[in-house]
Amino acid sequence: MTRKPTIVGNWKMHGSKVHLNEFVEIFAQHPVLFNSQCEMAICPPYPYLELAANLFKKIPHLKLGAQDVSGHQVGAFTGQVSANMLVDAGCQYVIVGHSERRQFNQETDEEIAAKFLAAKAAGLTPILCVGETKEQRLADLTNSVVVNQLQVLLSQGVGVFDGAMIAYEPIWAIGTGLTATPDQAQAVHRLLRQTLAEYDATLANSLPILYGGSVKANNAQGLFAMPDIDGALVGGASLNANDFIAICIAT
Ligand code: PEP
Repeated sequence: MTRKPTIVGNWKMHGSKVHLNEFVEIFAQHPVLFNSQCEMAICPPYPYLELAANLFKKIPHLKLGAQDVSGHQVGAFTGQVSANMLVDAGCQYVIVGHSERRQFNQETDEEIAAKFLAAKAAGLTPILCVGETKEQRLADLTNSVVVNQLQVLLSQGVGVFDGAMIAYEPIWAIGTGLTATPDQAQAVHRLLRQTLAEYDATLANSLPILYGGSVKANNAQGLFAMPDIDGALVGGASLNANDFIAICIAT
């Protein structure tokens, strides 16, 4: 089974209208990406989604995603944004359970599962982030941590992962310049795929599992050479169009 490589940029709380326009200008000048066999998406902050959707019409191979979504469909949830609103704004992807939201917003696996299911119900592709802290890795807990982070969703039936993606993002590698080695990342990706394969081998084989954590143009190729690494969720390097393009070309 060949899985199409996917590169998703997470702009976090960075960017501006000017930045977005400049990014698209540079991106549009790279014809090599036009017939790319690689899926590419950028997740800017909410206020820029509408503008990004319009600008991306110039480069239809670049898709749009959001960084978070409400687990509720509609109602009195001040400050939250529903999955249907993201679809309305032109999104195809949404990141759920990013470690920064788990850490700074105390998101639980149950809340993250609700967001994931809301995204799927609206027709979005949720990208579920899992990953261990440095302390957990040093205590040899990586495998149990990442498998546990799948459990709430798995209890709904493995079918919920159909049409979704997983991003393995070791927390110690996010924004730190430290990257998991290709072998370290591959070991966790393989474990995640095997865990899903215990329920449904075909689904597990077709599910894209992205790596995230200080991916740059100079380390991307080694990671993408691994059999269970299907692309990347990129933070810092996705803000620079040339760096993002270089990572896409490395797939
Ligand atoms: C991220 O925010 O998901 C991420 C991987 O960030 P960075 O690439 O900057 O480590």
